[in-house]
Amino acid sequence: MNCHETQRWLPGYLDGELDLVNAVTIEEHMKTCARCSQAYANQQALQAALRGSRLYAPAPVALRKRIETSLRQGDTSARAPWTVRWRWYSITLALACVAILAWGLGRAWVVPAADDRLATEVLNSHVRSLMTDHLTDVVSSDRHTVKPWFAGKLDFSPTVEDLASQGYPLTGGRLDYLDGRPVAALVYQHQRHIINLFSWPAPQASGTPTAIEEHQGYNQIHWTQAGMTYWAISDLNVDELHAFVQLVQHQSGPIPAR
Ligand SMILES: [Zn+2]
Repeated sequence: MNCHETQRWLPGYLDGELDLVNAVTIEEHMKTCARCSQAYANQQALQAALRGSRLYAPAPVALRKRIETSLRQGDTSARAPWTVRWRWYSITLALACVAILAWGLGRAWVVPAADDRLATEVLNSHVRSLMTDHLTDVVSSDRHTVKPWFAGKLDFSPTVEDLASQGYPLTGGRLDYLDGRPVAALVYQHQRHIINLFSWPAPQASGTPTAIEEHQGYNQIHWTQAGMTYWAISDLNVDELHAFVQLVQHQSGPIPAR
């Protein structure tokens, strides 16, 4: 079962409506798929929120009065007692409120934020660099070789540091393309894990704090510092990747070339 099918069946799975074979297949898929298990967690959260009372909004008094008036003006022939009618109006209103809120929450999930789109771009670049045998354009552990290599290829000069003595040797660099512009990709290694460190001038002057995310089994850490945007990505565990990021952050901030 692929992601598309899994997510199509998730509502049924959530409501316990699937047969055992399909339910087990979905559970097996979610064990290895962060995206689908996140979708499942989101739907669980929505279900819990809808069951809670926080979404209940009492109708305003003015609306209540208008409905009472229109009821009195309406047909007075055989109809349910006023209290019963009012109860139905309340239920309909409450359901409408819940539906609108649920629609809004659903939209919030399906419309990706700018950071989400960038996270996907970073993930794709990282995976592509590992798969297409195009990890580095310049192979060197010497920052005095790697840094000048970028000159003339980018409109900024990335900070290049070898972190071999701290356990994260530099293995090279390459040009990449992210967020609609050419960026510097520095490649580091930790044990057998590859780290891609992308950097380019930040579009906004203000710094953003370090954010840690996990996408499809890869950890991503991004931040801005000294006018530059940084994204580090690896299949390293979060602690080791974070240690790497802290080493990078302790370097002096990069200066745009022009
Ligand atoms: Zn999936």
